[in-house]
Amino acid sequence: MKTYLEPANTLPIYDECDVLVVGGGAAGHSAAIAAARAGCEKVILMERYGYFGGDVTGGYVLMIPALTWRKYSMVRGLQEEWFTRLDKNAPGSYISPRLDEAGEKTPIKIDRWSMVHGCVSLDSEDKYLVRAPYYEPNQLKLEMDAMIQEEPRIKVLLHSWGTKPIVENNTVKGVIFESKEGRQVVMAKVVIDATGDGDLYSQTGAPFFKRASAATRGDKTALVWRMGGVDFEGFKRWAADHPELAQSFQKELVKTAGYPTAFFPTDRNDVVWFNNWLPNLDCANLEDIKYTEFTVRNSIRRIIKFCREYMPQFLGNAYLYDIAPQLGSRCSKRLDGEYVYTRLDIACANKFDDVIAWHSVVPMANDGTPIELPYRCILPKKIENLLCPGRHLSADDVTIDGITLISQCVGTGQAAGVAAAVCVLEGTTTHNVNIKRVQKILCEEQDVPLPRQENTDPELVRELEDHKYGTMSAIAKKIRAEAGLDW
Ligand SMILES: Cc1cc2nc3c(=O)[nH]c(=O)nc-3n(C[C@H](O)[C@H](O)[C@H](O)COP(=O)(O)OP(=O)(O)OC[C@H]3O[C@@H](n4cnc5c(N)ncnc54)[C@H](O)[C@@H]3O)c2cc1C
Repeated sequence: MKTYLEPANTLPIYDECDVLVVGGGAAGHSAAIAAARAGCEKVILMERYGYFGGDVTGGYVLMIPALTWRKYSMVRGLQEEWFTRLDKNAPGSYISPRLDEAGEKTPIKIDRWSMVHGCVSLDSEDKYLVRAPYYEPNQLKLEMDAMIQEEPRIKVLLHSWGTKPIVENNTVKGVIFESKEGRQVVMAKVVIDATGDGDLYSQTGAPFFKRASAATRGDKTALVWRMGGVDFEGFKRWAADHPELAQSFQKELVKTAGYPTAFFPTDRNDVVWFNNWLPNLDCANLEDIKYTEFTVRNSIRRIIKFCREYMPQFLGNAYLYDIAPQLGSRCSKRLDGEYVYTRLDIACANKFDDVIAWHSVVPMANDGTPIELPYRCILPKKIENLLCPGRHLSADDVTIDGITLISQCVGTGQAAGVAAAVCVLEGTTTHNVNIKRVQKILCEEQDVPLPRQENTDPELVRELEDHKYGTMSAIAKKIRAEAGLDW
């Protein structure tokens, strides 16, 4: 490759702060709010686009699975706050079983929600309702704006790309960023890389992994779009009555698209979202990004024509509703952090003293029971005063798929914000943070349930223990057997 030697340059320091969060997606947005609420005097949230949410607003990923297990709600905090706020400020902008309906088994409700993927448990014959919201992404965008603007301690930089970390003696001191105003610097006591693609940590000298396994969703790119003019529930009931025909429809749909795709419900019966999985591509590689944008957009008219022709009774009036303004990004780089999360952690229900999030993963893996995510998964090796929550956290090349759901990105982001605040308030570093205080603030002040805390729900723990934390599921047994564990 030819090279160009960039001349040394003196850059203006745009601002200084306690905590700088780069990337305003589910993880970064949560980190900034959590840091401010935990007492940081000055937090800066830097985002390359003009709004917050990343995949969840601009990427039109509009469904969050498994917020409850049986009747228990483990994923509250900022994640549930999105929906209590939407209930108040934009009623009707999402659908889901309510929190107080979680675990209900009334047949009429099971029938109503069985049309909506993820809202009824998969793990048991005795089916129950699960909280799994499907939301209107633009309404969430407005709400995420409001949440930030209500925090006077957060200063926002929009349309600003964090391009280079400033590292001295293995300690991050700030970030160089680029915007319409040129190249400038923000200095910070703690930096949170919430870019999703390790844009910053990959330049600090901290070790990181590349690309997820080809067998995972993480190795596939996407561009989500929505189709209007449909009767989703009619289609689903027809599909349930005609499983073979439905399978054949799905096969033809994929053939028409030229890549794996399927549609899912939204908050409205007359609109569906098309998820897609373009294989063996990197969401941070320029050629792969261009290929994804063009390939999906080139196929949209073809798909709509196919839907109208093949399914006139439910999709006959189909039309292009809209296309997500940004690429759906799953996984490019992964942190090789102080702890690398593995499938065995799920299959063995491993417990961690530094647990910061207690969330369900894909329900099949462990019957939807919560797993413990440790702080060390967002902590880079070697480098101080940098935290890395969200979809680029530290996990092996397969397990990354199971622990980067939206709720886990919100959860690790919220925890990163609190941890950064504790570092600043106590004058410590990210490797020496008082993790007990972080857990206490999360649990007692920020409504984040964690295990083994003073306010942990004993009834939930008893029920989890009776259920052996889901470790007897077929998948968990298979993972243990593959690892040579004989239980
Ligand atoms: C198509 C698709 C379908 C999915 N389906 C589901 C699902 O059904 N349910 C579910 O729970 N999860 C799903 N996921 C996963 C989930 O959406 C993501 O893992 C999660 O939203 C990632 O959040 P994040 O904040 O870590 O990253 P992102 O959402 O990628 O946020 C990163 C933010 O940082 C900004 N940014 C990036 N680089 C820079 C930079 N250098 N400087 C400044 N800003 C920067 C971006 O603009 C963005 O706002 C899906 C993902 C995709 C792509």
